[in-house]
Amino acid sequence: MKNIESILYLLLFLPLISCNANSKTIASDTTKKQNTYVNTFKGDKVVKTDEEWKNILSESEYYVLREKGTERSFTGDLLDNNSEGVYVCRGCGLPLFGSESKFKSGTGWPSFFEIIKEGNVATDTDYHIGYARTEILCGRCDGHLGHVFDDGPAPTGLRYCVNSASLDFEAKRKP
Ligand code: FE
Repeated sequence: MKNIESILYLLLFLPLISCNANSKTIASDTTKKQNTYVNTFKGDKVVKTDEEWKNILSESEYYVLREKGTERSFTGDLLDNNSEGVYVCRGCGLPLFGSESKFKSGTGWPSFFEIIKEGNVATDTDYHIGYARTEILCGRCDGHLGHVFDDGPAPTGLRYCVNSASLDFEAKRKP
């Protein structure tokens, strides 16, 4: 009976909260819960209290970055941004993705095939919706960004699926 309830739950809620409708996740182990957080960021970390984050983030930014929320698909302000520049963490300003790696995934969330610099994005395994997905976080402030999947385009084959609320955009300055 419990299994049937779990299946019903998945059928009901997966389409609402998943950013990976037709893809496999990179993390494959759905049975073990272990410490899977990986962060190779070399600089000083940014650490703030919840109160301090609330003072500098909007409600929706706080919900996504600090409470691992997901904005509704096709609602983010950076989804259709095609300008040249750098996408930085909205929490701490760390550069995360370059505009040259942005592509249209059709998911409704800004999508990138690579990170701008090794170490700037941390990963963890997330069992939030009943199976394993690879969560991506800012390497410096641990703000939740979204998830990474293995159905992206060449050359990496990766798809970093990111909430607009987690990002700020810095346009390239004209010379
Ligand atoms: Fe950050």
